[in-house]
Amino acid sequence: MKNIVSKGYAGKDEEGKLALWNFERRAVGDNDILIEIKFSGICHSDIHTIKGHWGKQQYPQVPGHEIAGIVTAIGKNVTQFKIGDKAGVGCMVNSCMQCESCKNGEEHHCETTGMTGTYGSPEKLSPTGITQGGYSNNIVVTEHFAIKIPKNMDLEFAAPLLCAGITTYSPLMKVKMKKGDKIGVVGIGGLGHMAVKLAVSKGAEVYAFTTSPSKVNDIKGFGAKEVIVVNSAEDLKPWKGKLDFMISTVPYAYEMSSYIDCVKPYGFFTQVGQPINGELMINNFNMIFNRVNFNASLIGGIPETQEVMDYCAEHKIYPQIEIIKAEEINDAWKKVVNKEARYRYVIDAATF
Ligand SMILES: [Zn+2]
Ligand SMILES: [Zn+2]
Repeated sequence: MKNIVSKGYAGKDEEGKLALWNFERRAVGDNDILIEIKFSGICHSDIHTIKGHWGKQQYPQVPGHEIAGIVTAIGKNVTQFKIGDKAGVGCMVNSCMQCESCKNGEEHHCETTGMTGTYGSPEKLSPTGITQGGYSNNIVVTEHFAIKIPKNMDLEFAAPLLCAGITTYSPLMKVKMKKGDKIGVVGIGGLGHMAVKLAVSKGAEVYAFTTSPSKVNDIKGFGAKEVIVVNSAEDLKPWKGKLDFMISTVPYAYEMSSYIDCVKPYGFFTQVGQPINGELMINNFNMIFNRVNFNASLIGGIPETQEVMDYCAEHKIYPQIEIIKAEEINDAWKKVVNKEARYRYVIDAATF
């Protein structure tokens, strides 16, 4: 089998300006499928990674881990996909598949090799030496790490579910959210707006915390019971101890304890946004008085990613997206950083 010819938008250095790049992917192996990408979402993680905010990178590197397209070739051992199927790829493309976590469908917690990220991870078979992501016209992936996209789900809406969807769905499921629970969402961007929609769909009362007054009407439209525009920690005081669970999607360090203090004692607070160098700011004074359980969370396993895809298709839960051309990616990145995205940019892969 021959290597697959690809083109996409790659970062060349930490400046983080993307440009068209022609490259090759590995040949389609016996357990692989080839997906012709139709749409690819833009996640804040793409920006952090390419700019080296989470560690040194190899370049050129094509980001993108919200990938949706059509299967155009399959390896001889593939059983779950056939040519013409809709398929997606999220944030990982491999793991050891032998350890307890992998066997339990929590491949993102792989205990031996760790998960192989969809872009920027060393990969022996890749002609470029690292995995290359979804700002591109195709991708080769082991079938286990591909997600089936139901026929009734449009590919442009499916793409953001593969990171923004699963990253917010998984922690909401882990706290066994039930009807009537008071759920707080901090940061209403690509991830946060999905957290609102998913929690509302499960019957929760959702309280959205944003620093952008211009988002209030949209967020109410997503079903939030109340939108709190936060200018300072003072605005959070009336919410002390009121919420059952809170999820924060903010991808930068901010003083979190006054938000965590909005959760009732012994409740849970999950951080899914990953700041620069992974460094958070938590003042412990509030924390000792509430005993809120703090944890952080990364995406979800493949079975749960399939679950959120099927759930959103069944319940018609769609991300609010803006479709852009490849040449608009650099501009879109600036807008994501400036909190101007409403709420997920999705690249039309036909424009690469
Ligand atoms: Zn992401
Ligand atoms: Zn493993």
